[in-house]
Amino acid sequence: MITRFDNHDLSGRNTFGMKVSCACFIEYDSPEDLAELDIESLPQPVFHMGGGSNLLFTGDFPGTVIHSDIRYCRIVASDGDGVLVEAGAGVTFDDFCAWAADNELWGVENLSGIPGEVGASAVQNIGAYGVEVKDVITQVKCFDLVTRRELTFSNADCRYGYRDSMFKHAPAKGRYAVLSVLFSLSRAAMPKLDYGNIRAELPQGQEYSPAEIRRTVLRIRDAKLPDPKVLGSAGSFFKNPVITREEYDAVEAVAIAEHGEDCRVPHFALEGGMVKVPAAWMIEQCGFKGMECGNVAVYHRQPLVIVNLTGKASPSEVIAMEQRVIAGVKEKFNITLHPEVEHV
Ligand SMILES: Cc1cc2nc3c(=O)[nH]c(=O)nc-3n(C[C@H](O)[C@H](O)[C@H](O)COP(=O)(O)OP(=O)(O)OC[C@H]3O[C@@H](n4cnc5c(N)ncnc54)[C@H](O)[C@@H]3O)c2cc1C
Repeated sequence: MITRFDNHDLSGRNTFGMKVSCACFIEYDSPEDLAELDIESLPQPVFHMGGGSNLLFTGDFPGTVIHSDIRYCRIVASDGDGVLVEAGAGVTFDDFCAWAADNELWGVENLSGIPGEVGASAVQNIGAYGVEVKDVITQVKCFDLVTRRELTFSNADCRYGYRDSMFKHAPAKGRYAVLSVLFSLSRAAMPKLDYGNIRAELPQGQEYSPAEIRRTVLRIRDAKLPDPKVLGSAGSFFKNPVITREEYDAVEAVAIAEHGEDCRVPHFALEGGMVKVPAAWMIEQCGFKGMECGNVAVYHRQPLVIVNLTGKASPSEVIAMEQRVIAGVKEKFNITLHPEVEHV
């Protein structure tokens, strides 16, 4: 079934809580419905959204917002401990994680609590606590809005990187509507506990179920991240910069000049000599943690997050805060932060 609303209010459909609308909103609940849709006749441009948890609407959207309501989750094959699960794009990703934990299937427990939907997870390559969804994605079934045909991309076709995939870049950007995702989960225990707070809360060498790890992850996230139902945000606003060793040495020199020889810059060495530095650390070093300006703030518990403090923030206020943080980090460390949140 296709549902259409004209001049639709998007306030409840973006976790930032931006009070914006779109000229037309279309929801479909089957691939056949999408295939029947006369896209060219709709107000342009056309944008496919999920749960709106990684978006900053910069104003009213003049075109059509499309949303998938394809919701199902089923085991399609199993071989020994390996289990292939297909989930519809409109399934809330955390419901899928809960379903996997309830069925004692391993693979997505560390990704529990990430807002948004299954379709977007494959676009974004969501990640948390040492796991990225690409680790368990086998195939992504899509509808090509140009050729009007269904097609299936393998994991390799998707060209996954850090919070990145081919779906986020031309010529694929905006062309494919994700219909469903095929995940490769496992009945055999494969806990990933060697990451940050999980390591502290769940010592290695003991046995845990996926449900126990899920509960722990949800608890850690609750303590650290704002609940979008209470405080609007789009999660991490900035990507963690991946920089060269020379750039890292310069960042370290700034930190040592300020805090002394014992100062340690948190970082992860990557393949190829690159270094990933937490943007949150850089933002905090600039004194922005907890900074408020009008209706927006840099979240006091996690400076990577910009929040809609009063629920009344306008897109321009969020953008002003974004620019202020980018300029501050550039001035202090000579590193340019890039937003993870997509501006629409
Ligand atoms: C409090 C909070 C915490 C967060 N924590 C994390 C975290 O730990 N790790 C992490 O990786 N992210 C995190 N995020 C970001 C966000 O949850 C993810 O990016 C999520 O995948 C976005 O899903 P969505 O359904 O809301 O997609 P949207 O924000 O609506 O869209 C994101 C992108 O996906 C595209 N898209 C959506 N659905 C489809 C579809 N069916 N077909 C084609 N394209 C589609 C959109 O066009 C857009 O480009 C967090 C966000 C919040 C608010």
